[in-house]
Amino acid sequence: MAALLHDYGIQCAGVFGPTTLKDGSPDPMAGDVDVSKVTVIGNTWGEFTIEKYAALSPQLLISHMFEPPTFWYVPDQRQADLDRAPRGQGRPGDRLAQRTHLLLPQVRRPDRGTDPGHHDRDEGELTVPAPTYEFFHPRVIRSQHLSPHLLRIVLGGDPGLARVVTGGRDQRFKLFLPQAGQDVPVLPDVLDDDWYARWRALDPCVRGIMRTYTVRDARTGPAEIDIDFALHGDLGPASRWARRAAPGDPVSLLAPVTEDNGGVDFRPPDGTDWILLTADETALPAVANILAWLPPDTRVRAFIEVGHPDDRQPLVSAADTEVTWLVRGGTDRTSALLTAVTTAAFPVGTPYAWVAGESAGVRGLRRHLVSERGFARSRITFTGYWRQGRTEDDLMAEAVAAAAAS
Ligand SMILES: Cc1cc2nc3c(=O)[nH]c(=O)nc-3n(C[C@H](O)[C@H](O)[C@H](O)COP(=O)(O)OP(=O)(O)OC[C@H]3O[C@@H](n4cnc5c(N)ncnc54)[C@H](O)[C@@H]3O)c2cc1C
Repeated sequence: MAALLHDYGIQCAGVFGPTTLKDGSPDPMAGDVDVSKVTVIGNTWGEFTIEKYAALSPQLLISHMFEPPTFWYVPDQRQADLDRAPRGQGRPGDRLAQRTHLLLPQVRRPDRGTDPGHHDRDEGELTVPAPTYEFFHPRVIRSQHLSPHLLRIVLGGDPGLARVVTGGRDQRFKLFLPQAGQDVPVLPDVLDDDWYARWRALDPCVRGIMRTYTVRDARTGPAEIDIDFALHGDLGPASRWARRAAPGDPVSLLAPVTEDNGGVDFRPPDGTDWILLTADETALPAVANILAWLPPDTRVRAFIEVGHPDDRQPLVSAADTEVTWLVRGGTDRTSALLTAVTTAAFPVGTPYAWVAGESAGVRGLRRHLVSERGFARSRITFTGYWRQGRTEDDLMAEAVAAAAAS
């Protein structure tokens, strides 16, 4: 895939999987790519998440290796690069695609006709796409305990929030919180495409604490956003902040402003007969939204692990849904879901699985589905929402170190 992108004139900074053969010579699959300039970002599943790398370097274009016609994360400015690439027979990319049996990427083209963010220009010139995410600076409006471990925080007070548009499902966004003793989260002075590099350049003890959450709901009139926090005590700054959040407390968000924004991973491929969802309470907001989004007649088996019987919540769906709630007894965060899923009878037909929660548990589930249940890898979307013993900053730092090791 790196070679294919190279043929499009896009330089690949990092790839998943080896770029050289055992004798150290470049893998012929790499084509003309100078593999000495490419960072291997991991060889084993679970070593990276797309979220991490998208945040690590927002200008990166990351391809979906098992669904070649799609991209997991394509910032709009890179889509313009793809749009510029010459089309037609005889491109090196076409030949490479034939050699590797990969399909050429069909990248979604922005709707230039109606979107004022796009400037039509003469053919061959760059298209300037509308941004898909924007920064907002709301305040806590209210908080509501949904259950022993789930707390809903409603943000509002920034009229700009009315611009937030989500793709629903597992739509993610970035939340920035103030450090202890600060009134507001400290962000870079300039919040442009390089915001992440600028944020990283700030003193880690001073810059706003960045965490990833799911948009549980976004409303207009008044413009408000709901976040459902899975509380895990004072161990992490986000959980600590949520427990103490009071009306008027300021935060910042990097939230989507277009429906198709790259921050939605739940995408059942064509030909899906039934859907498997597995989640712990951090992914429960996403599951609730996915179920609400699915059309009638979709067959769904969901397994959801929570920490207390009262954390179970009514889930609204038009789909034909069977939910198994698992209530954790102790501190073990990896085996309850795995045991339930491995012993479950699955419906017949072609499945699509969406798996999210603690990283090690997610890896185990994916391994089981692929090796023991015969799920095609391309039919599993799996995301570690957190990792036991590691903060989100640790996970980001790992990603940065991997990139710097190039
Ligand atoms: C795409 C995506 C969407 C997400 N959506 C949500 C959401 O809607 N709601 C939600 O609550 N979370 C969500 N998460 C998970 C959330 O980002 C992490 O739990 C995050 O680590 C919490 O930050 P923190 O500051 O509280 O803890 P951190 O500082 O990151 O971690 C501190 C310690 O707490 C542990 N820890 C982190 N989370 C948990 C947990 N849930 N239970 C037990 N121990 C934990 C870590 O292993 C570490 O040891 C999402 C994550 C991703 C990637």
